[in-house]
Amino acid sequence: MKFDQFDCSSLMEITHRPDLVFLQGSGSWLEDSNKKRYLDFVQGWAVNALGHSASEMITAIERQSKLLINPSPAFYNLPSIELASRLTSNSCFDKVFFANSGAEANEGAIKLARKWGKIKKNGAYKIITMKDSFHGRTIATMSASGKLGWDTIFAPQVDGFLKAEINNIDSVESLIDNEVVAIMLEPIQGEAGVIPASDDFLKNLRLLANKNNLLLIVDEVQTGMGRTGKLFAYQHHNISPDIMTLGKGIGGGLPLSALLAREDVCVFSYGDQGGTYNGNPLCTAVGLAVFDTINEPNFMKSIVTKSERLSIALNKLSNKYNLLGERGKGLLRALILNSDDGNNIVEIARNLEPNGLLLNSPRPNLLRFMPALNVKEEEIDLLIYNLDNIFSKILK
Ligand SMILES: *Cc1c(COP(=O)(O)O)cnc(C)c1O
Repeated sequence: MKFDQFDCSSLMEITHRPDLVFLQGSGSWLEDSNKKRYLDFVQGWAVNALGHSASEMITAIERQSKLLINPSPAFYNLPSIELASRLTSNSCFDKVFFANSGAEANEGAIKLARKWGKIKKNGAYKIITMKDSFHGRTIATMSASGKLGWDTIFAPQVDGFLKAEINNIDSVESLIDNEVVAIMLEPIQGEAGVIPASDDFLKNLRLLANKNNLLLIVDEVQTGMGRTGKLFAYQHHNISPDIMTLGKGIGGGLPLSALLAREDVCVFSYGDQGGTYNGNPLCTAVGLAVFDTINEPNFMKSIVTKSERLSIALNKLSNKYNLLGERGKGLLRALILNSDDGNNIVEIARNLEPNGLLLNSPRPNLLRFMPALNVKEEEIDLLIYNLDNIFSKILK
């Protein structure tokens, strides 16, 4: 692939990338090599919680990089201790294991559940996950995922993942046998198109897990760290899961993820779990800066206010163009189209002049919005203004 002065042919082709090279970013804006600017409502797939190159992150990176970058996960370091205790004191969990990606945190959750099953539940190892779910791209997390076609690409899969339907408690209950150890789900399915698990479903899953001595695992890689207007999405539902995974927003753009669990579920023996970069002070120092910013008194309130503004505006657009409404929680939202124009709209938006707009269409019939959590109100208005223009040209 060659364009302008760039020769990208040494990069492995793993997805369709537009002919753009981004050189810098600030807040909700990215700038490419032609100095064209783009309003970014993707933010690395809900990763840049504070936007591009947030000052809080720059300060943390500068400070920590001069102190200590990686002493080894076999030694304690200060930022990881501090971030772990922030996470446990603000959740129902007692212990944290840091990793580098959402998939790796989920691998840890699967391993922890299997170990727990081995010790406490007669070797039970099967995990019930949901159709259309997304848990990552390692072999085990692909096997846990319910994405169409993923069962055959790298066959054989890792054994022991049973697929139920989100918001259908009977479909879960009917899969339970003595070999099942856990139920694992996203509180809102992100990649599937922002499909929330209902309050009823989550409460019933908790009851079902209690009744059958199963672990309830929430994958909050996308929904955690303020994305839905509470620190963690499970907190909307008055339930306590046994295990939670975090990723994406926790590092604000740096590779950081976490596996959290209740004390009596933490059954790893020495050597069961680890990893070269896990809990390194550079990434956890940035995680601390992100955590403290999100937890400033008015920050979470502002997420809710902005999400209402976005939701109301998307609904208006939906009415104006006869679309099928919007859904989501906080700043993870989707607008449901009445046609399969998603990718078409993404292209048109990116090519707008003078400033482009970056959107995401995880399913052909919808657009997903994952702005920075500190997105400005006028940036939301600009998104809506641009969508209105695009829709007026291409829809009906
Ligand atoms: C993105 C995502 C993952 C995978 O995270 P990576 O950092 O890409 O490995 C897992 N689960 C959910 C819900 C996600 O959204």
